[in-house]
Amino acid sequence: MPKKSNTFEYAPAPESRSIVDIKASYGLFIDGEFVDGRGSSFKTINPATEETLAEIAEASDADVDLAVKAARRAFRGWSRMSGKERAKYLFRIARIIQERGRELAVLESIDNGKPIKESRDVDVPIVAAHFFYYAGWADKLEHAGLGANPQPLGVAGQVIPWNFPLLMLAWKIAPALACGNTVVLKPAETTPLTALLFAEICQQADLPPGVVNIVTGAGSTGQAIVSHPDVDKVAFTGSTDVGKAIARAVAGTDKKVTLELGGKAANIVFDDAAIDQAVEGIVNGIFFNQGHVCCAGSRLLVQESIADELLTKLKRRMGTLRVGDPLDKNTDIGAINSAEQLARIRELTGIGDAEGADRWSPACDLPSAGFWFAPTIFTGVTQAHRIAREEIFGPVLSVLTFRTPAEAVEKANNTPYGLSAGVWTEKGSRILHMASELRAGVVWANTFNKFDPASPFGGYKESGYGREGGRQGLAAYLKGASL
Ligand code: NAD
Repeated sequence: MPKKSNTFEYAPAPESRSIVDIKASYGLFIDGEFVDGRGSSFKTINPATEETLAEIAEASDADVDLAVKAARRAFRGWSRMSGKERAKYLFRIARIIQERGRELAVLESIDNGKPIKESRDVDVPIVAAHFFYYAGWADKLEHAGLGANPQPLGVAGQVIPWNFPLLMLAWKIAPALACGNTVVLKPAETTPLTALLFAEICQQADLPPGVVNIVTGAGSTGQAIVSHPDVDKVAFTGSTDVGKAIARAVAGTDKKVTLELGGKAANIVFDDAAIDQAVEGIVNGIFFNQGHVCCAGSRLLVQESIADELLTKLKRRMGTLRVGDPLDKNTDIGAINSAEQLARIRELTGIGDAEGADRWSPACDLPSAGFWFAPTIFTGVTQAHRIAREEIFGPVLSVLTFRTPAEAVEKANNTPYGLSAGVWTEKGSRILHMASELRAGVVWANTFNKFDPASPFGGYKESGYGREGGRQGLAAYLKGASL
């Protein structure tokens, strides 16, 4: 008998896409202008419909070289400009992002597949906040505790993933510019459009040519950026495998590197936690952004005595999640970003079945076109299961149980990653104890997936090195600075 969905019936509430003007094709943004690439091109598609959105230039090695040369020329003036003047540009960019927030949010949802309520209420506001925050530091660098006369590194080569296209751009560009560096940034091949709109915003803000260069392309373009001899700093966010390849590519050079890589976070619920709040936190931890979140709470560790009650409530709540059109304001879970990512989620969840874990998803009608995956939990999972160890990067939660705090710590830390963790308990002392024991860059207490530009973010072990955000994020873009 088909399962009955718990979702309320709502009339469709689609956000209009008339606010965005997607061109048929895009060039590269080099030295303040859009120019034709010398390489080939590729298509970016809407993952919710598979409709082709635009033809995108694939930057060749020669294009990357032009962009690095433009950034080098611009570095001279930008690095010598007073921090107060640089701040004016960053504040201007931040304000334009707010003014064009709706346009950016709609474009992000179309190109990425994430629900409009997230791009509108989470991504874009944090992007603007990041530019405001680092604009504030630009004229105060000597007070950041990073030396008396902090100096920029030079040209930063920055490569970002597709899960938070505009937010990752902001995490990279805002601190780099505040410190007086210039940048060559490559967005991911499946989500180039908001980076190209950001290039327009740089023009609108009268940013001096060459301070920001956006080159589009896939892995080989990224490789050309990180291995370019005139790039002084490499900043990468993406998979651990590519991060390792980049670490090898820059080994033996004097390039400074930060790597923000994958994760397999434990979200730990103790028996004294407020269960209904914990259920919301679990849902937010793994189903936010379709689970395409490096710090997603993808391993639920629940104390055995409350496991049955919590799972019953969690399943009931999952039954109310609305999967579908990313532009519908009622949508909770949008489209999977690409056919490749969907195939990877299917492969890993198939392995979960084959290894004997129990799969459960609520009833939900998935659209026929596009890339979709229903929210899913696996119970009966042990630490030996691959779904408990590997990053699935989709809306899939693996549930494990524990009896004592020590067992929770041991299981939580039993991973090659160390990006984030969550702790749910009413005891403050337990929160402090767990935070000191967990090997994770961020530990959230009675909440999950909260981001603030003033708070540093980054990982241990195979989750990478370096910190982005906060005063710590400045250190990655200044000579001789470390925290
Ligand atoms: P990916 O590593 O495949 O790609 C990331 C970027 O690197 C893309 O722009 C890609 O074109 C480029 N790239 C690919 N090969 C390259 C190479 N050899 N040299 C240089 N650049 C290359 O990752 P993805 O699939 O786009 O993103 C998902 C991964 O990113 C997940 O593992 C996720 O955990 C991680 N991530 C981490 C954070 C963080 O802050 N730690 C944030 C978001 C995503």
